[in-house]
Amino acid sequence: MVQIAMIDFEKERKKLVNRLIEEGILRTHSVIRAMLTVPREEFVLEHYRKWAYIDTPLPILCNQTISAPHMCAIMCEALELKINERVLEIGTGSGYHAALCAEIVSPSDMESKGYVVTVEYFSELAKFAKDNLKRTGYDDRVYVINADGSAELPFHCKFDKILVTAAAPKVPNSLLRLLKPGGRMVIPVGTSYYQTLILVKKTSKGGIVIEDLGGCLFVPLRGKQGFEP
Ligand code: SAH
Repeated sequence: MVQIAMIDFEKERKKLVNRLIEEGILRTHSVIRAMLTVPREEFVLEHYRKWAYIDTPLPILCNQTISAPHMCAIMCEALELKINERVLEIGTGSGYHAALCAEIVSPSDMESKGYVVTVEYFSELAKFAKDNLKRTGYDDRVYVINADGSAELPFHCKFDKILVTAAAPKVPNSLLRLLKPGGRMVIPVGTSYYQTLILVKKTSKGGIVIEDLGGCLFVPLRGKQGFEP
């Protein structure tokens, strides 16, 4: 049996990040820095802490999963997150990916106006994420909302970047409207069994350009524009 107290999580985190750099998945300094800073072991269930730095999704509550580190890295790289940006995430889950985005748009060691709003369907998971974010010190930059993120959301502001971390049947128009001109969104689109990770770029004139980032597998989006109620 692995003794948790004996695991050097920092060393494991560095090893995983180095591998993702070697594989060409991690390329940007700010994303690498965030992946080296945010402790994934604090966002998984106690029982799975020993596997926090295996590059795989892990079960959390409500039959959902925390995404694999390489998928978080791919999405953060594709979004081209910058300091001071305003980010919207649909699918908070554990709060880990939101913390990664927050560490890029509002690094722990700098003053910044950047923040992350993250929307979670299940109240139990919203609470789980809030607890994880508080314990790790990200609750000052990450705001968790318990709502259906596929429905019309009552925000007055628009976002520089949007990430959807659950599989959608199509890109919800409600989210396109929340994206600033010049903004980027990543979203897995397809069936509930297999999806393509799509990068949506909104031009400065409001036009939409789509890029295919390859195959992926996410848990299904629920709610109004999702697969399941
Ligand atoms: N980003 C998460 C993992 C996401 S798993 C992390 O870092 O841990 C997908 C999450 O999307 C699940 O928590 C699921 O409950 C949530 N979800 C599914 N449909 C949703 C919807 N319509 N609105 C908000 N969250 C939703």
